[in-house]
Amino acid sequence: MPRIARILTPARRPHRHALWLLSLACCAGLWLAQPSHAGAAALAAPMHAPIHTATPTPTGRSRVTSRGGARPVAAVPVKVVARPAAVPVVKVAPSIIKGTVAAGIGTGHFIWPAAGRLTQGFSRRHDGIDIAAPRGTPLHAADTGEVVWAGWRTDGLGYAVIIDHHNGYVTVYGHQMRRPPVRVGQYVRRGQVIGYMGSTGHSTGPHVHFIIRTPARHYYNPLKLLGR
Ligand SMILES: [Zn+2]
Repeated sequence: MPRIARILTPARRPHRHALWLLSLACCAGLWLAQPSHAGAAALAAPMHAPIHTATPTPTGRSRVTSRGGARPVAAVPVKVVARPAAVPVVKVAPSIIKGTVAAGIGTGHFIWPAAGRLTQGFSRRHDGIDIAAPRGTPLHAADTGEVVWAGWRTDGLGYAVIIDHHNGYVTVYGHQMRRPPVRVGQYVRRGQVIGYMGSTGHSTGPHVHFIIRTPARHYYNPLKLLGR
């Protein structure tokens, strides 16, 4: 018997081994089946995971699409940035004479600020010229520029306008009849009315005290620059 047992055992053992292997294979089969189930889950995942899918797709679009769909999110900040720069251009562009200059920058060619009589010239004692005409005569910007003063001055000019032409020249228009019709920061074109002749401040009669100087207050003789 032990011999038979011995003989049978090896015969049974491979059977058991085979069974064990089979069960293993079964388990493995089940285990292998699981990934396929997971795969099915993965296939089902896109059904409710388009948001997740949208993220890694086109680099820029994914964010835009997830936030606002069709809303052109990217275009909004671009416009906002462009607006402040566009505002001064819109102010000046339609008023530029002959389309010669950039916004607020003078041509370097001055026109007479008012029609009238030259009653006093430029000298060491007089940092500008006086042009006399009836009260209310319009005063014109001698060149394109930016208004840097528009109001009362305590230095004797009374109501005055100062324009920086951003080309090394500044012009001043003193003794105006009332508060000027322009404001600080406003861009004006050459020839634009920036006030009206008067006699405010230290003045004996209606005239404009007209100055051409640098921003650092080096004064020029306007008669050498006007009309050129
Ligand atoms: Zn004067």
